[in-house]
Amino acid sequence: MDSQKEHFYKQAERLDGVAYDVRNPKMRLAVEEIESQIACGCAERKLHKWNIGNPPFFGIMVPDDIKKSLKEIETDFAYTRAQGTPEVIEAIFQYHQRQGVLGLQREHIFGIDGVTAGMELLARGVLNNGDEVLLPSPNYPNWRVNFQLSNALSIYYKCDEPSLWYPDVQDIRKKVTSKSKAILVINPNNPTGAVYPREILEQIIQIAREKKLIVFSDEVYNEMLYGDAKHIPMASLADDVLIITLNGLSKNRLLPGIRSGWIAISGDTKHAAGLIDGISLLANSKLCPNLWGQLATPITLPRDDYLKQLISSEGRLYEQITHAHKLITHIPGLSCVQPQAGMYLYVKIDQRILIPNDEEFVLDLLKSEWVHVVQSSGFDDLSQPRHFRIVCLAPVNEFDEGMARIASFIEKYHP
Ligand code: PLP
Repeated sequence: MDSQKEHFYKQAERLDGVAYDVRNPKMRLAVEEIESQIACGCAERKLHKWNIGNPPFFGIMVPDDIKKSLKEIETDFAYTRAQGTPEVIEAIFQYHQRQGVLGLQREHIFGIDGVTAGMELLARGVLNNGDEVLLPSPNYPNWRVNFQLSNALSIYYKCDEPSLWYPDVQDIRKKVTSKSKAILVINPNNPTGAVYPREILEQIIQIAREKKLIVFSDEVYNEMLYGDAKHIPMASLADDVLIITLNGLSKNRLLPGIRSGWIAISGDTKHAAGLIDGISLLANSKLCPNLWGQLATPITLPRDDYLKQLISSEGRLYEQITHAHKLITHIPGLSCVQPQAGMYLYVKIDQRILIPNDEEFVLDLLKSEWVHVVQSSGFDDLSQPRHFRIVCLAPVNEFDEGMARIASFIEKYHP
């Protein structure tokens, strides 16, 4: 009976082989162990949680006037239109107009509970069993999880470290087949921090145009740019290719927990009525996007001032990522392409340092130095899983201290 029950309560088979290693279970256990030591007062040092890009966790929050406006929101908590309220759609429409997006109409914008919810909506609403989607390696793996759950095939294209992690366009071209349906571009990229130049984006658009592919463009870090970096929205480059842009309030407006984002379908929409109907059907089946997130959108979206301050040459985000980059690249055996955007360093472990594999290395680092980073295999880095990602949201003094731990760990490391 018990073994029968065990069989009954198994997870669904569609989850077989699905991993989301940014939140790896082995690391979670190790963190719980460390946290229990901290809780009983027998720890003399801090656990550096440099694994999740969660700005408020590090005290990087919206300014007080926005907090006040959010607290003063009055609502009856009714369901809204499935697409989102007209005010929300207008705020998003205006945002994209300012960016120079081509051929966007208000009815082609859908509010969603964060970009992550948009990934699910697109995977379910657009992809058939066996469809192939081209996606970058390394990448933010939630996309692949959603493709897997829709029985679509993830076909990885190379982003090349010696070329500043830009997509290898020849590789993309080589991998297009008759089953290819869409190409995913994550720009700015997580985990690499790369911002792609216009020529690369135009070449990707050209492939989509020739091969009749849909472009999914995840632009969730499009305003978190450093120095001279300039973000070019994919949807500003073509009106004859179907481009689905995803964005939200999590990163650019420092509101990850509010779960607010959107999908904007632009370009060649005249041939996409069926696809848009499908997305609309799914959006309606979800009833409506969460209302707090919706109500926060017209308040915060026009306010790019506070992020601008944080990324300016005197701003906290700029200072932290620049400082962390300097420290990590001074550690013998580690290197890192300078990120142009986002909140991450993607660090390479030199071949001279013997590691069993990137996961073991990162777990050893966590257990022995209490520094929690994420291994490259968590980002579907297929070419060379000898990297790890550091979240650069902690204050600089914590980097001074934590990076010294990494340096001594590397110096003594014997797997
Ligand atoms: N897209 C990328 C590239 C990300 O890095 C993340 C989160 O880290 C997300 C999407 C998730 O966005 P949201 O919080 O809007 O679901």
